[in-house]
Amino acid sequence: MTLQRTLRRSISCTGIGLHSGKKVSLSLKPAPAGFGVRFRRNDLGGAEIPADVGHVATLNYATGLANGAASVDTVEHLLAALSSQGIDNVLVELNHPEVPIMDGSAAPFVYLIQEAGTRRLSVPRKYLRVLRPVSVERGDKRISLYPAEQFKITYTISFDHVLLRNQSRTFVVSDEAFAQEIAPARTFGFLKEVEMLRQQGLALGGSLDNAVVLGETGALNTLRFDDEFVRHKILDAIGDLALVGYPMLAHVVVHRGGHALHTALAAKVLEDAEAWELVEQAEDAEFVPSGVPVTVASAN
Ligand SMILES: [Zn+2]
Repeated sequence: MTLQRTLRRSISCTGIGLHSGKKVSLSLKPAPAGFGVRFRRNDLGGAEIPADVGHVATLNYATGLANGAASVDTVEHLLAALSSQGIDNVLVELNHPEVPIMDGSAAPFVYLIQEAGTRRLSVPRKYLRVLRPVSVERGDKRISLYPAEQFKITYTISFDHVLLRNQSRTFVVSDEAFAQEIAPARTFGFLKEVEMLRQQGLALGGSLDNAVVLGETGALNTLRFDDEFVRHKILDAIGDLALVGYPMLAHVVVHRGGHALHTALAAKVLEDAEAWELVEQAEDAEFVPSGVPVTVASAN
């Protein structure tokens, strides 16, 4: 059976909050089986915020969680790094209401996880295996989950910008492929929106060091991939869908999505207990794309 994993040791970094512009210290600490991913606000007496869809609070250009008065914003890039690298259980300590933006990608978090190393726990990991399609549609935006034997995302974006028209990509999620093909893709924004965001008190820490900024005719910085934008949307979707609380065996198909649509799907699939089951997998199943999971527990 594939076992749950945590970090081998604690590891820390500092950065700035994208929206607040303030310095943030972040530590990732090993946690026992069944703990899940939890944020702890050390500046609020250790208040904890579980990383699950029941705690989604704000969706202002980033995904925020809250538990009572304690909140944490911009969780999606860290969650994408943790879930793609197979970390089921971890305590994330912060001294600020925002995860540091680092370089706007998930690559620094993947690096931290790889530096800490991973450790297998003695409890099997459960996967959420989708049995029938689940969709959320909002205007011309749509996201769907279909049954599949691996976690796969097909993403299409369509912005009215010369660099962003109809980029599409399919990605089969694995730890190595994520680290190389998706993690380095940075968040992006439009120059004309920057002033508007700042007037709302958002993006105060944003700069060309942590975002790709798009002017009328192109990008102000050098791209890491020709299709860096759709790769980043795949990164965001992986992070937001980690809020389901289980790694998924499903094909996610997204057209013009964003944090609101991703998290709405995460909530909808959990509400529909007929649409999925919890399964365990043989240890080598993640290396065999056609591996058939073993059913051990029903969803209801
Ligand atoms: Zn993002």
